[in-house]
Amino acid sequence: MEEQPTAARTDLFIDGDWRAGRSGEFDVLDPASGAVISRISDGDELDGRAAVDAAAAALPGWTAMAPRDRSEILRRAFELMIRDRESLAALISSENGKSIADARGEVTYAAEFFRWFAEEGVRSAGDFGRSPGGDTRTVVTHKPVGVVALVTPWNFPAAMATRKLAPALAAGCTAVLKPASETPLTTLAITRLLVEAGLPRGVVNVVPTKRSSALVSSWLDDPRIRKLSFTGSTEVGRVLLKRSADRILNTSMELGGNAPFVITDDADLDVAVEAAMTAKFRGSGQACTAANRFYVHVDVATEFAQRFGDAVEKLSVGPASGGHDVGPLISERAVAEIGDLVDQALAAGARVGRRAMVPQDGGFYFPPTVLVDVAADARVVATEVFGPVAPIVTWNDQRELLRMVNDTEMGLAAYVIAGDLGRAMRLAEGIDAGMVGINRGLVSDPSAPFGGMKQSGIGREGARAGLDEFLETQYFSIAWAD
Ligand code: NAD
Repeated sequence: MEEQPTAARTDLFIDGDWRAGRSGEFDVLDPASGAVISRISDGDELDGRAAVDAAAAALPGWTAMAPRDRSEILRRAFELMIRDRESLAALISSENGKSIADARGEVTYAAEFFRWFAEEGVRSAGDFGRSPGGDTRTVVTHKPVGVVALVTPWNFPAAMATRKLAPALAAGCTAVLKPASETPLTTLAITRLLVEAGLPRGVVNVVPTKRSSALVSSWLDDPRIRKLSFTGSTEVGRVLLKRSADRILNTSMELGGNAPFVITDDADLDVAVEAAMTAKFRGSGQACTAANRFYVHVDVATEFAQRFGDAVEKLSVGPASGGHDVGPLISERAVAEIGDLVDQALAAGARVGRRAMVPQDGGFYFPPTVLVDVAADARVVATEVFGPVAPIVTWNDQRELLRMVNDTEMGLAAYVIAGDLGRAMRLAEGIDAGMVGINRGLVSDPSAPFGGMKQSGIGREGARAGLDEFLETQYFSIAWAD
């Protein structure tokens, strides 16, 4: 019988072999109970070097392979992820805590990157032009950047890996990947599927570790690494950008968010509530695109808070195995940090509007909470909450609204709910964010360029732009005169 990904490896994957890490093992916890669910091999810098050795050795063969052949492997990886959707979803829920519905959604979304880039990778884009003087011709072409280092977070353990792996592989790059130490099992399971799909030895190498800084630093110092693609917090992204400066390393940064969710006075409040529930509570609010602060027009604020509160109170919170709507947070520390933010807001005059119940028997739970009468400059508004808390601020004047919305160094996602589409689009244009959901609470789409403005990042993932991040542009200037 086919081995299922839930029986996934707990070792490092280097040069096509599963091997023990040189630093022992570390624990992976189930956030729904706090129990240890697995022990994972802990890689060190020497393991990291072996991974780069393998990726560098595999590079010429992978780059030379016909794009169609690379594409077929990615397409098979998509099909295998869909085949194993249920077991992958269960694995995501077990190490990340998200509800089984959210985990299934993540598997589909993650698999779609393999399908999208299988298609995009065979569309070779270039240019041929005549110089203004007429005496030369310019041919523009693209080359893979080389061996790439990929670093991913715990909140979407499948999608954040495939959103980097698929375009890197489609472009002809080979990779070393470090998953978040909270959620390495999903990435290792996807790696098994890539092997089953026919990925040659050495093309992808995965090194889980508990000492991220040492491992990633050693990669950044290695002259064979030509690019860093990082998804995680702005704080760590800043450190890695500084570290990348020494080698003028090509970097893509998908960093933190602080998404505003704007509701106008002509909005359909049913649409607003449905979009707010998705934008706020998917993955227990632990999405970089999560609605972080709600700006509701004063004329509809009471009605919206009432209907939103009704929906929030009905959320069932608990372990994914119980089929609940919302799961736990990733760690006990996250629960404490969000508790502090809420306490500070309450001390400054905010009130708990409505709240869901949480299980009382262990696990890292925080109750989905609506906060009303929140000051526009409260810390819970200015900070990326990364949890199921919805602070509501009211607005009256559109100019002042846009000032508040843009008064942040973050610019990843935003949401606008308005009755008149033209008004919604004019508002969206005024918001400094890379992605704006209009009358919906979800912006992620493999065919669209995902990414942020300001300190939310550099570069885009998905769409054609996601492939370009892993390509260098080269041109040939050709003498053409007789
Ligand atoms: P994090 O920055 O703590 O960790 C991200 C990754 O970096 C993990 O693999 C971690 O082990 C590693 N890491 C941590 N410190 C490091 C160091 N000093 N050197 C090298 N690697 C290091 O982020 P997180 O807590 O895992 O994820 C949450 C953050 O990620 C949030 O801010 C969220 O908004 C952001 N995020 C952004 C996107 C996006 O696409 N923009 C997507 C998902 C998450």
